[in-house]
Amino acid sequence: MGIHTLAGRSALVTGSTSGIGLGIATTLAANGARVMLNGLGSKDEIDAALASVRAAAKDRVEFIAADMRSPQEIEDLVQGTVAAFGTIDILINNAGIQHVAPVQDFPPEKWDDIIAINLSSSFHTIRCATPSMLASGGGRIVNIASAHALVASPFKSAYVAAKHGIAGLTKTVALELAEKDITVNAIAPGYVRTPLVDMQIADTARARGISEEAVISDVMLKAQPTKRFVGIDEIAELVLFLCGDSAASITGSILPIEGGWLAQ
Ligand code: NAD
Repeated sequence: MGIHTLAGRSALVTGSTSGIGLGIATTLAANGARVMLNGLGSKDEIDAALASVRAAAKDRVEFIAADMRSPQEIEDLVQGTVAAFGTIDILINNAGIQHVAPVQDFPPEKWDDIIAINLSSSFHTIRCATPSMLASGGGRIVNIASAHALVASPFKSAYVAAKHGIAGLTKTVALELAEKDITVNAIAPGYVRTPLVDMQIADTARARGISEEAVISDVMLKAQPTKRFVGIDEIAELVLFLCGDSAASITGSILPIEGGWLAQ
């Protein structure tokens, strides 16, 4: 794919102050898109994310704080992006959290947060961004789901439910927008070494009563025949491809990038 493929296009990446979202935002910006960052974190963390994406960027990079638990803040984020850049051509729904616990101990407030951030926020961003894409005659929506959009693991009831929900949302909206040159896809990564996974290693060790080393080798990488974590850059490059013109016929797909996990 050529350099500056996305010149003139505007992208919103939710949860882009860390991990996978930061990697996607950097790749989109390096390929010419204007990028709106979003996420939680201290001022220092946000300034560092802005500086690192701007260092790679060919066009503007801005930040709007919006809590993905709040439909009103999400609406303000989308409208703020349109106000800043004129359109939203690319929407990447990436913000997500995890909590690992047996269902009988699963805190109801964690269930509510995970459903809000990992599922409902994507409904709200899509609901609010679609009018801009329809008005400009096309667009790209990529939802960062998980292998857990297609299979389950124990102790992740809310996460697996939310990610399966994302698969359904992706397919439904893809059908609704198929004739409008707006593609809607989900990416289903296996384990990626990010702050989200680092926290999960400790939680899973507690939930299963095993060591953290055993979680990495016997739980996480056991599921992945490649026996290595998926790279953030690998995911970002797949997103970039889906955002390009060559991916115009890929829509409604849940695309695994999970080192062979789902082949078993
Ligand atoms: P991360 O913790 O590194 O980053 C999460 C991002 O979401 C951060 O920018 C954070 O500020 C933001 N965020 C969290 N709560 C928010 C809220 N209420 N409002 C706004 N932003 C919020 O995590 P990551 O591993 O990069 O995960 C990113 C996405 O990838 C998630 O949807 C996750 O489910 C998915 N995913 C991760 C893995 C993995 O192994 N890391 C695997 C499959 C899917």
